[in-house]
Amino acid sequence: MAVFQHPEFDRHETVVHCHDDATGLRAIVAVHDSRLGPALGGCRMWRYADEDAALTDALRLSRGMTYKAALAGLRFGGGKSVIIGDPHHDKSEALMEAMGRAVDRLGGAYIVAEDVGIGTGDVVAMARATRHVAGLPGQGGDPSPATAYGVYLGIKAAVSFRLGRNSLDGIRVAVQGLGHVGHAVCERLAGDGAKLVVADLSPSAVERAADVFRAEIAAPEAIHAADVDVYAPCALGAVANDRTIPQMRARVLAGSANNQLARPRHGAALAAQGILYAPDYVINAGGIINIAHEPWHTGRAYDREAAFADVARIHDTLLEIFAEAKADGLATVAAADRLAERRLAAA
Ligand code: NAD
Repeated sequence: MAVFQHPEFDRHETVVHCHDDATGLRAIVAVHDSRLGPALGGCRMWRYADEDAALTDALRLSRGMTYKAALAGLRFGGGKSVIIGDPHHDKSEALMEAMGRAVDRLGGAYIVAEDVGIGTGDVVAMARATRHVAGLPGQGGDPSPATAYGVYLGIKAAVSFRLGRNSLDGIRVAVQGLGHVGHAVCERLAGDGAKLVVADLSPSAVERAADVFRAEIAAPEAIHAADVDVYAPCALGAVANDRTIPQMRARVLAGSANNQLARPRHGAALAAQGILYAPDYVINAGGIINIAHEPWHTGRAYDREAAFADVARIHDTLLEIFAEAKADGLATVAAADRLAERRLAAA
C-alpha cells in the first residue's frame, strides 16, 4: 500500500523500510512527529500477514507514541519500529544487530526500546550497533512498577472525579490481567482498602491474588461486567466494544492495557453510558516516563524517587482532561487528543 495515501499516514515525518540480506531482516521504522524531541518507541516483532499489515501497525503505533509522550510532558516525539517475522523462529542476535544498524542509520531521529516480541537480550544486541537505545539492563529497570504506580494514581483521580471519593477504601475494582502491571496495581489498591475482583487466564496468578489480596475471582470472559465501581483492564486491548460496553456496570474504566477502545467511536459510547474513561495512553505512561529518567537520556544515575515523582503527574493530567471533557461535552479521549495537539503546536 502506498504510504502517503495510507489511512493511518497522518502526516508522518519519516517512514523507512529496512532490509538486510545476510540476516533476512525486513523492518519498517515510522517516525510520526519530532516537534517535542527525537522519536522514542518500542520495536515490535510479529508474524504480520503481509507488509501492509506491518506498515499499518507501525504507523498507528508511532502516532500513539507522539500523543503519549506529549501528555506525559516528555521531550520526545513518537516513533515505532516493526520487524516482520516470528519472534520464536526468525529471531537471531545477528538479525537484532542488523536492526540496530538500521536504527543507527537514522542518526538519533528514532530511539528504539522493547515491545511485543522483543526482549532485553534483543535490546542489548541492537545496542551493539547503535547508541540510540533505551531500556538497557542496569538503567531504569523493569518499567512495570512505574506503569502500575501511574495506573493506581489514575484510578484515584478518576474515582475522585466520577464518584466524588478521595479514598479508595471500600471501592470495588475489577482487575483484568495479573501480570507485571496488574499484580502491582492490585498491591497498591489493596493497600488503600479497595475490594478487588480479579481475572487472569493463568490459574496460579488468580490463586495468588485471591490469597494475597483476598480478591474475588471472576471468569476472564465476564470480568468486564463485574458489579464494581472501577474496571481496570491490564491485559488486552479492545476491551471496550459494541458487545462489552452495554454490559459494563463500573462507572470508571481505568487500566494499563494499550488500545482499550475497539474503535475511536467507543470513547463516545462510554461517555454516553456515564462511564468515565481514563485514556489508556495517558494513564499507562509511567513506563515511558521512567525510561526518560534513564542515564542514557539524563546523563545521571537513575533516581527512582525522581522518576516516580514525574509519574505522579499523571494524576493531575487526567483531572485536567476529565474537566475539559466535561466542560466541552467531549469524550475524554477527544479531550486528551486535543490537549496533546495543543502541546505539540506550542512546541
Ligand atoms: P504481562 O504479560 O506481564 O501480563 C498480562 C497478563 O494478562 C498475563 O498474566 C496474562 O495471563 C493475562 N491475560 C491475557 N489475556 C487475558 C484475558 N483474556 N483475561 C484475563 N487475563 C488475561 O503484561 P504487562 O506488562 O503486565 O502489561 C499489561 C498490559 O499493559 C498490556 O496491554 C501492556 O501492553 C500494557 N502496558 C504495559 C506497560 C508496562 O510497563 N509493562 C506499559 C504500558 C502499557
